[in-house]
Amino acid sequence: MSKEIGKCLCGNIEVECDELPKVSVACYCEDCQKASGGGASYNIVIPDDDIRILKGIPSIYNVLAESGNKVERLFCSDCGSAICSKLISRTVWKAGLFSHLKDIQVSTNVWASRANKLCKVDTDKTTFEEAS
Ligand SMILES: [Zn+2]
Ligand SMILES: [Zn+2]
Repeated sequence: MSKEIGKCLCGNIEVECDELPKVSVACYCEDCQKASGGGASYNIVIPDDDIRILKGIPSIYNVLAESGNKVERLFCSDCGSAICSKLISRTVWKAGLFSHLKDIQVSTNVWASRANKLCKVDTDKTTFEEAS
């Protein structure tokens, strides 16, 4: 397997992933709409042991998600790119960090009930109206 390098827009934050899953979870919650620029955010669940930050220190925005759970949203303080979100049970990494984006597809939709008209929810995939 080959290691995959991920970067924020400015390149000041760099991550290394041992084996990048080729599936992502699209989240349409209102926080993700704000953070992503209006549509969904695309999140890849990666076990902590499989990914590490090689370069840079992300800033952290703490927020209470609509689910009522605490979420730490990590982002690059230089360019504003979202890096990952630490949920209670797992950390999800933004698909946009990685260069092989065209190989990654959505496997699951969450918070579909909050989706706006900017993006269409592909309900052929596993879809949850709220959190999974
Ligand atoms: Zn950056
Ligand atoms: Zn969300």
